[in-house]
Amino acid sequence: MNAAPLTYRVTRNEKARTAAERDAILANPGFGLHFTDHMVEITWDKAQGWHDAQVRAYGPLSLDPAASVLHYGQEIFEGIKAYRHADGSIWTFRPDANGARLQRSAARLALPQLPVNEFVESLRQLVAIDGDWVPSAPETSLYFRPFMIATEAFLGVRAAQKAGYYVIASPAGAYFAKGVAPVSIWLSEDYARAAKGGTGAAKCGGNYAASLLPQQEAQAQGCSQVLFLDPVEGKYLEELGGMNVFLVYKDGRIVTPELSGSILEGITRDSILQIARDRGHAVEERKVSVDEWKQGVISGDIVEVFACGTAAVITPIGQLKGKDFAVGDLNAPAGEVTMGIRKELTDIQYGRLPDRHGWLVKLRD
Ligand SMILES: *Cc1c(COP(=O)(O)O)cnc(C)c1O
Repeated sequence: MNAAPLTYRVTRNEKARTAAERDAILANPGFGLHFTDHMVEITWDKAQGWHDAQVRAYGPLSLDPAASVLHYGQEIFEGIKAYRHADGSIWTFRPDANGARLQRSAARLALPQLPVNEFVESLRQLVAIDGDWVPSAPETSLYFRPFMIATEAFLGVRAAQKAGYYVIASPAGAYFAKGVAPVSIWLSEDYARAAKGGTGAAKCGGNYAASLLPQQEAQAQGCSQVLFLDPVEGKYLEELGGMNVFLVYKDGRIVTPELSGSILEGITRDSILQIARDRGHAVEERKVSVDEWKQGVISGDIVEVFACGTAAVITPIGQLKGKDFAVGDLNAPAGEVTMGIRKELTDIQYGRLPDRHGWLVKLRD
């Protein structure tokens, strides 16, 4: 429909924070707490396709109470970061992969496809105006949250004919401010986050809604995250609520659950598979049973386990707990392979190592 690139209308926020206010936030941003002064908004409808692209003041959306997102959960999102390099320039990591994934998520949720070049352009537009919000302290970044919702006011059950695409951005502090610390994971035996043929492979809010109760259960058990098993046999590892999982074997093999149709295809996961191969590891994408994890940790065949995703990059997993067992040692330090891969990936993202796979895209000088 709209083959020509979108032209943006830019309206500056009259109430933008002062440099001093912004610096106070950037000194201690936390995660997902503060938002930049502007946002991107692009409108879609069936007749016109994507149109009315704007950068405008960050602020509330005006939605009809009958908007289908509020009733039927037709929503998808992405998560991607901007990194400031030592020379002050601002870069992002594999945005084409996120743009392509947003398209796959859109297809599954019967939402319209945003062209990948428009996805990348939307990040560029926001950084053009809010670039000063990209922090520069080590391991900090600006986290973009692009998302799409069905906005048509219609209670009939069918794919909406009106949608909105938005990008907001939030400065993110170092995830592990006190050094990378292994976490404890709760094995969810009563709940799944996804179903066979369901939306597990799409990045949609509904999957997260389904993961919140098991997440509460994990916290009640003293664990920080949940591990979900495959929804058919309840035997094989899938992923955490928002991160993929890897096992490191004594012989150097690195194993991650294969894309089953109900696992979210993480871009961090894919990048780690590449870096592990580059570092000489044999990598396997296959079914991994929870028994293999338990037995492997007990026998010493599995020496490290970690989770990965854009927000935390790589989080070492010290312990797996279930209703009647616990394996691993939460007090053991993070593993060498885990930390080596983590360092290599973040060194590439922050421009401290050559970008040998062409993963970085410059957003602003
Ligand atoms: C976003 C997400 C991940 C991680 O994907 P990345 O592209 O590495 O950030 C893993 N699992 C789920 C359910 C997710 O939503």
